[in-house]
Amino acid sequence: PSYNSAKNSLGGSRSSEQFGKFASMSEHSDEHRQHLSHPMQGLGIRTATSSTRSADEQLKNTDPHLVELVTNEIINQGPPVDWNDIAGLDLPKAIVKEEVLWPMLRPDVFSGLAALPRSILLFGPQGTGKTLLGRCIANQLGAAFFRISGSALVTKWLGEGEKIVHAFFLVARCRQPSVIFISEVDMLLSSQLSDESPVNRIKTEFLMQLDSVLTSSEDQIVIICSTSKPEEIDESVRRYFMKRLLIPLPDSTARHQIIIQLLSQHNYCLNDKEIALLVQRTEGLSGLDVARLCHEAAVGPLHAMQGTDLSAIMPSQLRPVTYQDFENMFCKIQPSTSQKELDMYIEWNKMFGCSQ
Ligand code: ADP
Repeated sequence: PSYNSAKNSLGGSRSSEQFGKFASMSEHSDEHRQHLSHPMQGLGIRTATSSTRSADEQLKNTDPHLVELVTNEIINQGPPVDWNDIAGLDLPKAIVKEEVLWPMLRPDVFSGLAALPRSILLFGPQGTGKTLLGRCIANQLGAAFFRISGSALVTKWLGEGEKIVHAFFLVARCRQPSVIFISEVDMLLSSQLSDESPVNRIKTEFLMQLDSVLTSSEDQIVIICSTSKPEEIDESVRRYFMKRLLIPLPDSTARHQIIIQLLSQHNYCLNDKEIALLVQRTEGLSGLDVARLCHEAAVGPLHAMQGTDLSAIMPSQLRPVTYQDFENMFCKIQPSTSQKELDMYIEWNKMFGCSQ
């Protein structure tokens, strides 16, 4: 890729004055404005000018159906995610803060960097917080969050996949600053694609767009891709990702935090010993598995009211969630990642990751 040519334009030549505060926060939701109170908010990026204008022009000539699809299905308006919402992951969080966010927010201070790290690959088991981290990065940058799944592109939208990718980047350019999040990116960048595969067209369009963002001196777009199959990514495209971060299964401290956070939304009666036992028994589960277990257990008190008209029930009538509710659900939740896969992530991280 030609992104190294961005050396000058992406690096130290930007002054803090040039970036200033966000010029067009009025275009963003109240939610975003509220989050500017964060110390990292509003320090750096402001909305691009000519890049946005040219994207606006192109958008006018784009099939309205595609623009509508992108606007309705792909722009993600979920609640903002903060660092505290993500349990564990201390190392990737620290790397993101120090090596991605600060250089972007303070290009005047980090002027020695060859290029801003605007493309990140998050790899690891499913349900470990990759999307949460992507949303958190968007929140920290006060950026719009655009999310698309590689598998939807190659299945549901295969026929018009490359047009969707094109429209997707165009809309993201118009709404800068933006974070583009592509999950299951291995589906687009697989080394197994045959020459005849229609996915190649989507892959080519995606790499063109990625390269264009990385070489632009104006675009304020961060591209975050996630995968649970990093080994399937074509090795020639690996270098497009300036940061490659392993997002592992939650350790005991992180599982404790997830359990406590979810239990605190309910009336529960578990002592410290029982909670410690839960932490122990959830070893090997992803954050998503642990969350599912907690949600299933929290329905236990409702199940106990069988025969009662549930529509008329008051929350105060429900008994608290107990250890037994978890016990009943353990059989339903199995670790979704094998030891072989875990070993593969560690190996891949050693060879290509940034967080050994
Ligand atoms: P993925 O790694 O597949 O992108 P997500 O970020 O979408 O996973 O996480 C799915 C859900 O699992 C979250 O909404 C949250 O409920 C739970 N979860 C996963 N990892 C964590 C974590 N580290 N901290 C808190 N919750 C988590």
